[in-house]
Amino acid sequence: MDRIFSKVVSFNRSGLGGCLISLILFGLFLGAIGLGWLVHGLLIIGLIALFLPPLLWFAFSWWLKRKIVQSECPVCQYEFMSFKSSEFACPSCGESLVVEGGKFKRLSSLGAIDVQVVDVVND
Ligand SMILES: [Zn+2]
Repeated sequence: MDRIFSKVVSFNRSGLGGCLISLILFGLFLGAIGLGWLVHGLLIIGLIALFLPPLLWFAFSWWLKRKIVQSECPVCQYEFMSFKSSEFACPSCGESLVVEGGKFKRLSSLGAIDVQVVDVVND
């Protein structure tokens, strides 16, 4: 028994695999002395701990995709990411930009440039 124990301990030092094996052995031990419910509880906690981070990451990236837009500056074609909600300046040329329809637009030209073009054509 001592030999097996020292084997588990030495395996434990080698990394996660050993850690899992000793956890399983610990679970079997608890089950053997009538603490099966504790094993189930720990198993559920373990599963939650295992699946929660990827779930959180998935939710976070989904949220980020909704909030963040990647596009290029209409003035200098520099590609970067920005939050959708507010106006911002291009990190390359400093032009004031806003997000419209998933693309960056010049703040100063919003709703103005079309009218100006029509005026020029009419003249
Ligand atoms: Zn720019």
